[in-house]
Amino acid sequence: MKALLVAFYLVVTMVLLSLVANAGLAVGDLFYTSCPVCGVSTNLRLEYYLQPTASNSGSIRISCVRCNSSFSRVTKYWGTCLEPLSTLGLGDVILYNCSCGKIHPYFVLSLDGSYLGILSLDSNCKYGVSAPFSSFSHSYTETRRTPATCTSTGSILSTCSRCNKTKTESIPIISHRWVEFSRIPSTCLPGSVVYTCSMCKKTKTESIPANPAAHTWTETFRPPATCLPGTINYTCSACNQTKTEPLSADPTAHAWTETSRTPATCLPGSINYTCSTCQDTKTETIPAKENAHTYDVAEIVPATYDPDGNLLTASYIRYACTACGDSYNTSIGGGSAGPIINDGEGGDGMGDATATLGKTFLSGVWALFGIYVPGFSFTFGQMWLGVLLASLSILVIRMMFGFGGGPRGESPRTSSTNNPKISKERRHDEF
Ligand SMILES: [Zn+2]
Ligand SMILES: [Zn+2]
Ligand SMILES: [Zn+2]
Ligand SMILES: [Zn+2]
Ligand SMILES: [Zn+2]
Ligand SMILES: [Zn+2]
Ligand SMILES: [Zn+2]
Repeated sequence: MKALLVAFYLVVTMVLLSLVANAGLAVGDLFYTSCPVCGVSTNLRLEYYLQPTASNSGSIRISCVRCNSSFSRVTKYWGTCLEPLSTLGLGDVILYNCSCGKIHPYFVLSLDGSYLGILSLDSNCKYGVSAPFSSFSHSYTETRRTPATCTSTGSILSTCSRCNKTKTESIPIISHRWVEFSRIPSTCLPGSVVYTCSMCKKTKTESIPANPAAHTWTETFRPPATCLPGTINYTCSACNQTKTEPLSADPTAHAWTETSRTPATCLPGSINYTCSTCQDTKTETIPAKENAHTYDVAEIVPATYDPDGNLLTASYIRYACTACGDSYNTSIGGGSAGPIINDGEGGDGMGDATATLGKTFLSGVWALFGIYVPGFSFTFGQMWLGVLLASLSILVIRMMFGFGGGPRGESPRTSSTNNPKISKERRHDEF
């Protein structure tokens, strides 16, 4: 619809312009344009016109054929380019490139929308032109360009091809073109990257965040392994941060000190140890010594007889170890247990062959006394007792009846019979 109106307007204007072409501008001329008073496009009649010049403003007076109102206004002179267009008014004079190749002054005949109707004031070229406003404004072309850099703005210089007016447009600063120049990787300490601008050589440094897990631990202290747990110290060689790690105990690394000892006898001995580090204790066993019993007389068992006086079991002494209870028997003859006396003394560890021989001898003697005389119901002991009594009787008779120089009696046997003293035994001898 609007396009149709514009087309219609253009046709009307061209008809009007063709009508006034080649005709001088004169009072009474009609111009088809919009009435400033009634606002309707109609014919306006020129009542008075004074053309403006470059140094003086002009004036115009027009009446509306439709509303009959009359009005006048001051007009001004423009160059070749209309600027700003908003102040352009009816009756103004502009310079325009005529199709004849010259620049003529033109009278503004109509203003409508974005179109402008002008009429030549040249006496030889009285042509009308209707064209968009943009045709009457500056026509700039770029004549010089200064590129922007990262440190300064650029510019574009443009020149109007009609009036040679120039204008300068600014080009904004562009950003730096950073190129990595060097890099220090981060560890437990922050790293950094240095960038250089490839255009201005300016540098900047950016930080790389530290990696807390990237310490370089160096062991600084490790205690000797003991039976107690310890700690190992570490220091980071980069940032000097420290940490500790547990050092597990070595169960074999006790520092044993002997605290008490029970020597081995026929029973195992023991050694108690305490660890000077952790106070733990342990006991080691000392193997029992062979034949290290401490025998003592435990029992004297008399001989037994049946009702007829026959010996059933011979008398004997039972020796028992006071430490372990191990025992052995030693026969002492059938007639009597004998007055065996235990000296009761503690052992002194002696146990030599002499004692063994003595014991063997005494035991043999005692055994002899306990043996029955073959074919008789009495023992040798009893027989010897009889012989002794007989000898004593003979001795007494001889003393009484004058026999002199009798031989000595059997005193050793008497002694051993009546008073055998048996030492504590050190050896367990079987018979
Ligand atoms: Zn009017
Ligand atoms: Zn011309
Ligand atoms: Zn211009
Ligand atoms: Zn730069
Ligand atoms: Zn570190
Ligand atoms: Zn320990
Ligand atoms: Zn023992």
